[in-house]
Amino acid sequence: MLQFLLLGLLAVVGAQDSEYFENYYNEIDVDDELAEIKTRNAMQSPLQLWPSTRIYYRIASDCSPEEVANVHTALATFNEQTCLQFEELSGPAAAGARYVYYKKSDKLCGTRIGYNPIPILGSGSHDVQLSPKCLSSPGIIQHETLHLLGLYHEQSRPDRDDHVVIDYDNIPRKYWPQFMATSTATTTTYDVPYDFDSVMHYPKNAFAKDPTQPTIRALVDGSAVERDMGQTMGPTEGDLFKIRKMYKCDQAL
Ligand SMILES: [Zn+2]
Repeated sequence: MLQFLLLGLLAVVGAQDSEYFENYYNEIDVDDELAEIKTRNAMQSPLQLWPSTRIYYRIASDCSPEEVANVHTALATFNEQTCLQFEELSGPAAAGARYVYYKKSDKLCGTRIGYNPIPILGSGSHDVQLSPKCLSSPGIIQHETLHLLGLYHEQSRPDRDDHVVIDYDNIPRKYWPQFMATSTATTTTYDVPYDFDSVMHYPKNAFAKDPTQPTIRALVDGSAVERDMGQTMGPTEGDLFKIRKMYKCDQAL
């Protein structure tokens, strides 16, 4: 269950596509062999939940004041709207103590999904890589933070075929694993209705060969229709509800 997502601006594509890819972000799994377990929605294993609702974090010193402010803005939403309390470390972490490390990266954004229950030697940090593009958006920082708390992508929910149609003809085969839906065996939706507006939903033309055409269409009354999805403004009530359920906020003192 050691999954790690990389999210990048796809700088590897030709320069002619740069304007298009500037408009949203994509994620790429590093290890396709693990794709099956990377594409579910809310994980069920308690081992991968953070053991305390108080989660310590650190922000890399090479982030600008604006980038630091964006991380603070992003985390304030969780502190205010869930029982989780993100608290910035003011000094060195205690030996072996786990904390989240928001780290600057040239082009990539990504993080491991859920808490790593295996003891980490040498460093207790759970790294979140953030490019300047990702650091410019509290919503994208929240997307990554929801991954580290244990959420997968919305369009990978086990019931997603009732809500969306994927156009694989418009997706390079190497990215097909990004669109897998899986069983209810290890994940749950907490009965939250399918949420096209989730901050964990891919945009409608994610990984498109032809970005003028969607790769994901909404199913409405049995018909596949184009609609916007995958906003990056911030978590929806459904996203936050899942976090409250996962971390048993209703039982918190
Ligand atoms: Zn993601």
